[in-house]
Amino acid sequence: MPSPSPDTREACVARDLSDPLGAFRDRFVIPDRLIYLDGNSLGPMPRAATEILHRTIAQEWGRDLIGSWNSAGWFDMPVRLGDRIGALLGAGPGQAVVSDTTSINLFKALHAAMGLRPERDVVIAEAGSFPTDLYIIEGATKSAGRPMQRRLIGADGASLDALLDQRTAVVVLSHVDYRSGALLDMATITRKVHDAGALVIWDVCHSAGVVELAFDRHAVDFMVGCTYKYLNGGPGSPAFIAVAKAHQAAATHPLSGWWGHAAPFAFERDFHPDAGIKRFLCGTPPIISLRGIDVALDALNGVELAALRQKSLALTELFIARVTALLPELKIVTPRQAALRGSQVSIAFDKGYAVVQAMIERGVIGDFRAPDIMRFGFAPLYIRHADVWDAVEILAECIRTKVWRDPRYDRKLAVT
Ligand SMILES: *Cc1c(COP(=O)(O)O)cnc(C)c1O
Repeated sequence: MPSPSPDTREACVARDLSDPLGAFRDRFVIPDRLIYLDGNSLGPMPRAATEILHRTIAQEWGRDLIGSWNSAGWFDMPVRLGDRIGALLGAGPGQAVVSDTTSINLFKALHAAMGLRPERDVVIAEAGSFPTDLYIIEGATKSAGRPMQRRLIGADGASLDALLDQRTAVVVLSHVDYRSGALLDMATITRKVHDAGALVIWDVCHSAGVVELAFDRHAVDFMVGCTYKYLNGGPGSPAFIAVAKAHQAAATHPLSGWWGHAAPFAFERDFHPDAGIKRFLCGTPPIISLRGIDVALDALNGVELAALRQKSLALTELFIARVTALLPELKIVTPRQAALRGSQVSIAFDKGYAVVQAMIERGVIGDFRAPDIMRFGFAPLYIRHADVWDAVEILAECIRTKVWRDPRYDRKLAVT
């Protein structure tokens, strides 16, 4: 059982002083007096990034040039980093690579999964999925080379159970809902999908690096996710895809680029996929961005995911307790039950956009998701209990003073 949330600011500070993860904060650059509750959108910069990226640019690129593909290990990076991330996913080596974006990796995974279930014609997803997942499912089903149907939980049926049947080829689910922060039971759902003879693709964008995952133990078929959220890989850092060993030899996808070829430097005329996970690569990887992931994974060295999860739950618990105490009228849409919660807390509030803007001005960075969700992410590597306490005080002040009456908080920016 987690200990009860601290009930004074002093108790928060005391909790932070004895926090076994407390020292990890120093591995990141967090601007002074900023409370950064948006690590679920873009993680902060690891302190070592400046030096390592500078070395990558000045020495590997500037001085050693093309030789670095061999001498600096550039060529192997997608696979080496894939194995490092695989360890966080609970996947044994040779099952994950870092490449492309989550959107592209989902496209590849969908094609591979549909190809593994050629006699079935339905893909199921949640109507409230992150839009790119829905858009990619649309594109992948339309390019399947045979008629496929997309069925949406919450639109075409009330639940997965209502939609899952003998026609289901693939189920695509987000482990943590980007809006509500609700966490799905990966073990139970994966088993249920398998019992129906279908395959599952888990989008772990909002759980990789902050929730314990068990790719192998739960016999997950595919995982995709990004590296710039809780993994702190940097803006637009490439994504990952994990494919269970058992599927790899038969899993194919249409983005048959040369990096997925069995022998990219043999320059053959026809495509022969790599025997293993490298068949999910496509083209030349963005080395400088990959180096950002490398540094970010170094910053996680020595961290137990179980400890991260425990602290994450303590932080979200504290946030919920304080919001409930100070602002009982607010509607928290994130589940109160720890087992059903990711690492963020979301509040539905019709003036949410203006409130988030006003909080940013006061040094608390959260974000807003249309139509009315204020989102606060709690990355346990660098967020302190005292930060949570202070953030709620500032939220309460913004609500109490009705900041939304000031039109300057209502100007919509391109990225919310
Ligand atoms: C952040 C996020 C993405 C991002 O996709 P990109 O292609 O990397 O931009 C996809 N799916 C979910 C659920 C996300 O939260």
